[in-house]
Amino acid sequence: MHWSLAIAKEIVERRKEKKHVVATGITPSGDIHVGNLREIIIADAVHSALINMDVDARLIYIADTFDPLRRRYSFLPEKYETHVGKPLSEIPDPEGCHSCYADHFLLPFLDSLDDLDIKIEIFRADEMYKSGMYVDVIKEAISRRENLARIIEQVSRRRVPVEWTPFNPLCDACGRITSAVVKGYDLNKQEVYYECECGNKDVASFRGGGKLAWRVDWAARWKILGVTIEPFGKDHAAPGGSYDTGKRISSEIYNYGAPYPIPFEHILLKTKEEEGTEAKVTAMSSSRGTNIPVHEMLEAVPPEILKHVISRVRPDKHIEFDPSLPLLHLIDEYERKIRGIGRGVAGKIPFRHFIALVQIARGDFSELLEVIKRSGYDVREEDEEEIKEIEKKAKYVESWLRRYAPPSVKFEVQLVLPTEEIKNLTDAQKYALMLLAQELIEGMNLSASDWHNKIYEVASAANMEAKEIFKAIYIALLKKPSGPRAGWLLASLDTEFLRERFEAAGEA
Ligand SMILES: [Zn+2]
Ligand SMILES: [Zn+2]
Repeated sequence: MHWSLAIAKEIVERRKEKKHVVATGITPSGDIHVGNLREIIIADAVHSALINMDVDARLIYIADTFDPLRRRYSFLPEKYETHVGKPLSEIPDPEGCHSCYADHFLLPFLDSLDDLDIKIEIFRADEMYKSGMYVDVIKEAISRRENLARIIEQVSRRRVPVEWTPFNPLCDACGRITSAVVKGYDLNKQEVYYECECGNKDVASFRGGGKLAWRVDWAARWKILGVTIEPFGKDHAAPGGSYDTGKRISSEIYNYGAPYPIPFEHILLKTKEEEGTEAKVTAMSSSRGTNIPVHEMLEAVPPEILKHVISRVRPDKHIEFDPSLPLLHLIDEYERKIRGIGRGVAGKIPFRHFIALVQIARGDFSELLEVIKRSGYDVREEDEEEIKEIEKKAKYVESWLRRYAPPSVKFEVQLVLPTEEIKNLTDAQKYALMLLAQELIEGMNLSASDWHNKIYEVASAANMEAKEIFKAIYIALLKKPSGPRAGWLLASLDTEFLRERFEAAGEA
């Protein structure tokens, strides 16, 4: 049974609600990355399992657009120092292409969710505050400050400062939401009086004039949106952590049962500086730049692969994500066990093979079509859909090669004979290439397995090991001693080109 179904069954057994709301929340303070995506994939999987069980369920994403900018991250220009402490929805886009900072990171992520075919209702925290959705929970929090402070102290074992209030006013003068202190309030007028570090004294409305402190905010929105299920990073699940406080705040202040928690482990990014060196494993983090933004990953692999990579692992297990060869192995596995990537002929050619074909075609699309045909696949060139699917798969491959492929996978068919390298071949190797050349007749079309057999025949005729011949073939064609499967490589190249090349190498 898939873990999402097991969780869905347990939820239905344990909870009395007839309607479920599966909530997620990610702060768009930087590129939303593959590690963040895990939260949405988990929520989506559980939501789908509930729907399949005929349970009434919604899937929502609360974008924490009203969170303050915590510090000037390394990817921000120096002048952004002045924006630290302001809500992300009120800061200009660092690249100027969206209406605010939050949107710059949120909107590409929402596009990616579309690509991933994840249907999710979006709530922007700043809009929720400004529209008044929070007014009642703010009133409740402000009037019960003492109780809240006690809960936080008891659960987190931290001292709550005397001047602490659960509401952080947004200062009208400096724009920060982190530096004003509440000095009084009027529940009827729905406003607080504050004094800011910048010297400003003013009133702030419950409608967008400030924000609840994080631990209170989390519990408050469970109540506002009727959240019954929520996955979150394991850090929040630590004893005395924000889920523990949230649970008590929810029941004691808001008279609402905390959602069913699904704590999940991190996705660790595994990278190698260069081949042969020890791989580095780091937690994905937008602020430290050790991450792969979701939109960037989706340029190199199709959405179904990214979904598969994440959803195949139970939430309580961490994922070591290595976008180089290990990702390629997962793609192989997916194509073998689930389905081919792309429709028509694109779906019939394994991704790994496509990587070789694209490189053989050297970035030329009409050549790629020829290469595919030579490899024994039928391409209906009049079928636009089929051509588009090939184009799409080729784009993924190109992007994967550029960003993540290790050198061992990369090659380039040499347009001229690599004379220097050929000098190092043994006489036996040159003789074998000559024998191969003699076997090739114009117009001949050998399949990958024909080629494979032919190489073994030549090996026994020349009384040498086949691997020596493979090496000679790679050197003559690619200027390196290894490459993609020789059968594939040879079948996809023009016979006349091969005959000339092997002859020239044999004579060199
Ligand atoms: Zn932008
Ligand atoms: Zn101020």
